[in-house]
Amino acid sequence: MARERLYLFDTTLRDGAQTNGVDFTLADKLAIAGMLDELGIDYVEGGYPGANATDSELFAHDHDLKTTFTAFGMTRRPGRSASNDPGLAALLDAKADAICFVAKAWDYHVRVALETTNEENLASIRDSVKAAKAKGREVLLDCEHFFDGYKANPKYALACAKTAYDEGARWVVLCDTNGGTLPHEVEEIVGDVCKVIPGDHVGIHAHNDTEQAVANSFAAVRAGARQIQGALNGLGERCGNANLVSIIPTLKLKPEFSQAFDIGVTEAALKKLAYVSHALDERLNRASDRHAPYVGESAFATKAGIHASAIMKDPATYEHVAPDTVGNKRKVLVSEQAGKSNVLAELERIGLKVNKDDPRIGRLLEIVKEREAIGYAYEAADASFELLARRTLGTVPNYFDVTQFDVNVEQRDNAKGERVTVTMAVVKVRVGNDNMISAAEGNGPVNALDLALRKDLGKYQKYIDGLKLTDYRVRILNSGTEAVTRVLIESEDEAGERWTTIGVSPNIIDASFQALMDSIVYKLVKSGAPA
Ligand SMILES: [Zn+2]
Repeated sequence: MARERLYLFDTTLRDGAQTNGVDFTLADKLAIAGMLDELGIDYVEGGYPGANATDSELFAHDHDLKTTFTAFGMTRRPGRSASNDPGLAALLDAKADAICFVAKAWDYHVRVALETTNEENLASIRDSVKAAKAKGREVLLDCEHFFDGYKANPKYALACAKTAYDEGARWVVLCDTNGGTLPHEVEEIVGDVCKVIPGDHVGIHAHNDTEQAVANSFAAVRAGARQIQGALNGLGERCGNANLVSIIPTLKLKPEFSQAFDIGVTEAALKKLAYVSHALDERLNRASDRHAPYVGESAFATKAGIHASAIMKDPATYEHVAPDTVGNKRKVLVSEQAGKSNVLAELERIGLKVNKDDPRIGRLLEIVKEREAIGYAYEAADASFELLARRTLGTVPNYFDVTQFDVNVEQRDNAKGERVTVTMAVVKVRVGNDNMISAAEGNGPVNALDLALRKDLGKYQKYIDGLKLTDYRVRILNSGTEAVTRVLIESEDEAGERWTTIGVSPNIIDASFQALMDSIVYKLVKSGAPA
């Protein structure tokens, strides 16, 4: 059976830029557009030229992308001609392959928000599509509030869509702007629209206000729509847009969709999905959602003992898809409740060959239990667990020793009479017979200590040059009478691989130091640095 083409339209850089706390720079936008292009997304909506300086600059130059780079903006204002509307002129001048217009499709909004007549709104759609076509652009029309509009006045909502289609718009996109429509309603209404406009010219733009934006997108496809709009990691205002990071693997890996449709994302590109999702969070300087479907750190993690032993026999027993298809990893959590089978499974995953009757496995399990009782949490710190396992099995060289460190925090008035807090760390390290001393200033004690520690590791320096800290989390735990601090540090290397290490101590600097040391030693082990 010949598969139909289904198109993906990404609005991370436009609708996603409306997310509370998200503020893309021009460099961010260019980098993200490049990632989406490599992923195989058909349309990348870059922004709204004329609306702000960043977007105007973005559309001032040509782009060397395979994707259809799209500019977003409004149809001509009511009561003006298309040739006498500066907003429309900016949009038509934008260096873009396509223009996505947004127009009202709900008569109530036409009257209240636009303060014009239904007929003038249709004329504005007609004129704008015509003007963009005359400029040689591919044209899309986002029908704002389509579903609510259709429920109130189906004839008028359809007339808006049909007007754009008849004028030559490639796509008419049905938007659930307020995000309150439910999947069965979407399926029914899109089905009605597809009787009037061919489905291969109909798109869906769903918002996640009832946590069903992904389900609504698939409901629209079932009813005939052939373009899905969404954003990476479900970015978007309020509760976000449909999450393309969940939609893409479902389309590729679930037979209902993969047997019916081709999309622009190849199997090889799908393996980069987890990386793309994390790279976006990194740009936004926020921690990734561990429980994100397909790409989250916990998406393929198993804790209970019986599940772990079954997974070792056949992974398919507890996994709906294979983790490596989306660039993720299987993870068997090691915790206090865990049995020997978890430990064995995890050792196998990290490539440590041990006989299952080896007494050192029992010893390792004992150590894990003792340490978890005082606050360590190895299921959240995969790299620290691996080091602990390797140390118990005697395979971690003693690369270097920190013989002393000193962190000084001082608050004083500077030369300009401003109150400043200055932090400085000094670290003494012995590597073989060499003694090194490094000092660094930081924006806090942990930052200064990290910088000093990684400044000069002698012959090992080249292995840690690409190492950076991507997240630092602190929790105060109350165990018995005294409070202890648990520090989790997430690190990343030049290849984009990430790992988490842990430290626990009543002293936050000491806990941070343990986690920093584990991160560096883990990197040396991983890089195969010689002893
Ligand atoms: Zn939207």
